[in-house]
Amino acid sequence: MSERYSRQVLFPGIGKEGQEKISRKHVLIIGAGALGSGSAEILVRAGVGKITIVDRDYVEASNLQRQQLYTEEDVAEKLPKAAAAEKRLKAINSDVIIRSIIGDATPEVLEELIVGVDLMLDATDNFETRMAMNDIAQKYDVPWIYGACVGSFGMSFSIIPGKTPCLNCLLRTIPLQGMTCDTGGIISPAVQMVIAHQTAEALKILVEDWDAVRTSFVSFDVWRNQYTTMKMSKAKFAGCLSCGEERTYPYLDRENMTKTTVLCGRDTVQIRPSSVRGLSLERLAEQLSALGYDVKGNPYLLSVEMEAERMVIFQDGRALIHGTKDLTHAKSIYQRILG
Ligand SMILES: [Zn+2]
Repeated sequence: MSERYSRQVLFPGIGKEGQEKISRKHVLIIGAGALGSGSAEILVRAGVGKITIVDRDYVEASNLQRQQLYTEEDVAEKLPKAAAAEKRLKAINSDVIIRSIIGDATPEVLEELIVGVDLMLDATDNFETRMAMNDIAQKYDVPWIYGACVGSFGMSFSIIPGKTPCLNCLLRTIPLQGMTCDTGGIISPAVQMVIAHQTAEALKILVEDWDAVRTSFVSFDVWRNQYTTMKMSKAKFAGCLSCGEERTYPYLDRENMTKTTVLCGRDTVQIRPSSVRGLSLERLAEQLSALGYDVKGNPYLLSVEMEAERMVIFQDGRALIHGTKDLTHAKSIYQRILG
């Protein structure tokens, strides 16, 4: 065991004491796409005590170019990313406790998962989840590390409640909303650079080397050879509803949560039922096959082929409808299949 982490222990910033701290920490990673699979692999190899990873999607061929935990076999099996990530991470380091959650990181889910967590990593692709993470971090006093990338561009910022401005504060100076949906493509080195920034900050926070934590907002473009850091000490806004004195945590309000969402950069609509329902996928598969639908599945999900669309149904009743961006049309398909 000591041999396993010897190079990391030799690094003066970590040492034996730091390694022991790392081994006792619990990191919550929201998203198991490109950023999430890279960060999870680095932290699992580094010997973090426990990792919880949450993702709502399943593995597709277009993920393999940059989502390093997945294989062609995962694509063929249509495995949910969280399940495929858990399998691979356990194979990498059996000492780490890995928990995977297949589903949306809603405020409700985050409130449950945050208990006992030392650090959260942002590996999501949507603004709504990031803002909910930001409010949860402030409410439960847990540091988190923002990260995003599109094309060859990426950025990261470490948010320490009580010390740094929060993401809601930053929105007053940086238009981050535009950084949430990639429709124009992405290259893997940009992803890896964000992962490097996020996990370096993660290690500093896990060993509690607070002086080493970067306080600036970093952004870069690996294609255009640009690297910028911005000081953020003045960005903290006293009236901020997420971290200010009169805080209300607006992004944890369930009323603000959309139930139907067009997914990032894809012809896909996600529909989440208003209450979690335990579906028998096996029985549903039988019923749909009897009605003449072409149904394929695994223990986690069912894939149903329709005339123009394909619908993927998860156990909790959540569905992804591929082949449309029309919310009303997607809802009618959902109702037809799941009632
Ligand atoms: Zn704030």
